[in-house]
Amino acid sequence: MGVNSVTARPGKEDSTGKIRDYESVIGLEVHAQMLTRAKIFCGCSAVFGGDPNTYTCPVCTGQPGSLPVLNVKAVEFAIKMALACHCKISPLSLFARKNYFYPDLPKGYQISQYEYPLAKDGYVEIPANGREKRIGIIRIHMEEDAGKLVHEGAFESAASSLVDFNRTGVPLIEVVGGPDIRTPQEAGSYLRGLRDILRYLEICDGDMEKGSFRCDANVSVRPQGQREFGTRTELKNMNSFRHVEKALEYEIKRQIALLEAGEEVVQETRLWDEEQGRTLSMRGKEEAHDYRYFPDPDLVPLEVSEAWIEKIRETLPELPAAKRERFIKQYGIPEYDAAILTASQSLANYYEECVRVSGEAKMVSNWIMGDLLRELNKDDREIEECPVPPKNLASMLKMITDGVISGKIAKTVFEEMYRSGRGPEEIVHEKGLIQLTDVDEIQGIIRGVLEGNPKLVEDYQKGKEQLFGFFVGQVMKATKGKANPKLVNELMRKSLSKG
Ligand code: ADP
Ligand code: MG
Ligand code: ZN
Repeated sequence: MGVNSVTARPGKEDSTGKIRDYESVIGLEVHAQMLTRAKIFCGCSAVFGGDPNTYTCPVCTGQPGSLPVLNVKAVEFAIKMALACHCKISPLSLFARKNYFYPDLPKGYQISQYEYPLAKDGYVEIPANGREKRIGIIRIHMEEDAGKLVHEGAFESAASSLVDFNRTGVPLIEVVGGPDIRTPQEAGSYLRGLRDILRYLEICDGDMEKGSFRCDANVSVRPQGQREFGTRTELKNMNSFRHVEKALEYEIKRQIALLEAGEEVVQETRLWDEEQGRTLSMRGKEEAHDYRYFPDPDLVPLEVSEAWIEKIRETLPELPAAKRERFIKQYGIPEYDAAILTASQSLANYYEECVRVSGEAKMVSNWIMGDLLRELNKDDREIEECPVPPKNLASMLKMITDGVISGKIAKTVFEEMYRSGRGPEEIVHEKGLIQLTDVDEIQGIIRGVLEGNPKLVEDYQKGKEQLFGFFVGQVMKATKGKANPKLVNELMRKSLSKG
């Protein structure tokens, strides 16, 4: 920049004395392992785990003379994802060699689609602030996974490193998202959205900790209102949704601070260090690899016919976005509820079954989002492992609406259902939790409470009206919460007005 050029630094006060705000721009690259039985170019098991180097053969360990053969199932799975993301599927795509050396890559190159990917130009919809937001999908391509290095001792000072080739050749798809995300929270909900789609399609288990669902996050910042994007950095090494959000939050602050100080953001790859809670530079642009991509001569071009695409399209289930929309319309529940209830197909089924039996759409939603998910999260359980079958939750809700038990008692009943797996009727009868609605009995208890507190009754009559709640509370206490609160209120008011 010339000495004479005077440009307003982003974030500095402008002529009106106002500090300019920044906007972040985020684009995610997601790798998802396909749940095929075999690897992408050989017959070895693609199942996670197994004793090290037991799921290997000459092809996936890159031995001379071995030839890759494409697994059709892996292509079918990738096409499913491409269709779910509204992508255009190329009739012809190519596998290329991405050349680099690393000990987890026995061939010295990774087979990946590069110039001619399987699919392009799609989008996914994610719930954002009570509406659906579209995030573009630039491309979806297929590739093979690399092996896994196991470092003995701390990473930097590892005395030795071991390599496990069970993972080499496991089919991956890479989903390259557009730079359409604006906040770390949105990035989190996009990622969860992609994971949910993959799980609905049953093509990936979506487990970030295990590494079967991984994410590189590209992020830049720009002054509010500026059209061009700022210089981006790429973040790696995040193995949970929370870490992605935290890493982005940190990185956005770091980039803004640089611009504020009049410095520049350097385009580089940075690693998230969870322990230190910050990102660290891994490699700069100068060290970026030149992969010398070229079409793999061992593989024929991948042809995908229109007929095949249509056949696969017919197998697609109702996907999260469509289900959300249907839930909102059909059950009249808020977008927020619909987003939570459709996170997995099993949870959505659970919800629909409860509503079918009880006829209570919003009440079921409240109980699932509240008590049920809280208990499941506490135990780290999935809905499939829920000890309360839908019909039990539904009958308990019917007991509330029929006035058999109070909403308060229902909390206790629910806990007991969850703990024991038993039905609500059994629990309610055994523990004598049926709501007290007998007028004479309640009246008797009210009399007891008022006679036991003559001084307070006098105060109440002199105008200290807030004591009303205290009297009601005493009755509820005496009946262990079983008295029908509405009835207690009514009868109490009558008793007190009689003087
Ligand atoms: P590369 O192939 O070098 O990784 P791409 O241009 O294909 O680069 O982009 C990769 C990812 O980076 C995409 O997800 C895209 O949305 C995102 N991205 C590109 N430019 C920016 C930017 N300025 N800020 C944030 N993300 C960006
Ligand atoms: Mg990249
Ligand atoms: Zn193999």
